[in-house]
Amino acid sequence: MSDSPIGIVGGGIVGLAVGRELTLRYPGVEVQVFEKEDELASHQTGNNSGVVHAGIYYQPGSLKAQLCTRGRVLLREFCLERDLPYDEVGKLVVAVDPSEMGRLDALERTARENQVPGLRRVDGREINEIEPHAEGIAALHSPATAITDFAAVARAYASDIEAAGGTIRLSTEVTRINVSAGSIELTTGAATHRVGRLVICAGLQADRVSAPVDGEPSPRIVPFRGEYMDISPAKRDLVRGLIYPVPDPRYPFLGVHFTRRVSGVVDVGPNAVLALDREGYRRSDVRLADVANYATWPGFWRMARTHWRTGIKEVRGSLSIRSYMQEASRYVPEIGAADVERGGVGIRAQALDRDGSLVDDFRINETNGVVSVRNAPSPAATSSLAIAEHVVDRMTQS
Ligand SMILES: Cc1cc2nc3c(=O)[nH]c(=O)nc-3n(C[C@H](O)[C@H](O)[C@H](O)COP(=O)(O)OP(=O)(O)OC[C@H]3O[C@@H](n4cnc5c(N)ncnc54)[C@H](O)[C@@H]3O)c2cc1C
Repeated sequence: MSDSPIGIVGGGIVGLAVGRELTLRYPGVEVQVFEKEDELASHQTGNNSGVVHAGIYYQPGSLKAQLCTRGRVLLREFCLERDLPYDEVGKLVVAVDPSEMGRLDALERTARENQVPGLRRVDGREINEIEPHAEGIAALHSPATAITDFAAVARAYASDIEAAGGTIRLSTEVTRINVSAGSIELTTGAATHRVGRLVICAGLQADRVSAPVDGEPSPRIVPFRGEYMDISPAKRDLVRGLIYPVPDPRYPFLGVHFTRRVSGVVDVGPNAVLALDREGYRRSDVRLADVANYATWPGFWRMARTHWRTGIKEVRGSLSIRSYMQEASRYVPEIGAADVERGGVGIRAQALDRDGSLVDDFRINETNGVVSVRNAPSPAATSSLAIAEHVVDRMTQS
């Protein structure tokens, strides 16, 4: 690694974890983080479910499976050391209908291959011992699944970067990246910055920032709004930890769950509705450039043809709280539409290949000294410290 500064585009949890790892491995090298918003963790990192996943769902051997498993262990240590919130409230993945048992069996096999610590299959009676107000016929219980505050974790990574002599530049959008032999030049407004290596962790803008550098038009980011419902304080105690449905393997990111937050709030969500603005959090927000970006991508229409029925169901749930809660109430029948109000919103960066397939695994490219994190969906916040190790290993080897 040369002595020139290393640039990071993106002050979300992934960019900051990579920046921190670089300062640990190369103490003499200056890390410069460029973040376009006026605070860190403004997008996915600050608007997610706050769940530290234990690796139940991910294809064994995939980057997600490997980095989530290691990332959880590293994150737990980091939070304990730094006195950051970390509460092992545990997760139940609940089957409410006999038709789901085959999928629950398959999920258990995956979770066992991924060596999810303490995993147990439980029956209806044991479900009630763990979550007295949940209903189901069988479940997987993961006691090591935890909750945290990922924005606070990201800020702690940033303070480590600064303590090691690095720089965090807020309100500094990278508008152009020029890569030439031996040098990388970033344009931010009227200024230019020269760095020796660059890592792009731009989340919802990953394709726009990376494609001109790595020359890969695919995958493109399609934004999906994830809307939460807050449970009224009177009913919060009905949920002790995390209650999830058995996922449909075709849509692993779908299925609203009951989530206890470290703040004490308990919510239900998130759904997944096609967004009209990558970074617009109100339902009325529309950014034509964002809509045009996916509407002109052949993969989008292929995905739409395959999944339109599910899309309509999600929109119906978004428009009507009654419809939203109809599905969720199957897991905790005492919490219905009258017990919730609209809560926060997060927008997922869903990477979509040209052939219409949803990119499931983390995807990281490398060209000419630039590493581009092209797909870092959930559980990337859980995995952040392990993603950082993986990225820095690759930079070291090249
Ligand atoms: C609704 C929802 C629920 C989720 N739940 C969980 C969960 O419970 N557990 C979990 O592990 N994961 C969860 N995730 C996933 C997790 O939040 C993300 O995987 C993770 O936050 C990605 O981090 P990131 O740094 O890649 O992206 P981001 O947090 O989006 O950060 C990217 C940053 O890049 C900046 N940027 C973009 N372009 C530029 C530019 N040109 N110049 C400068 N800066 C730029 C942006 O402003 C942004 O701050 C969830 C995500 C969502 C949306």
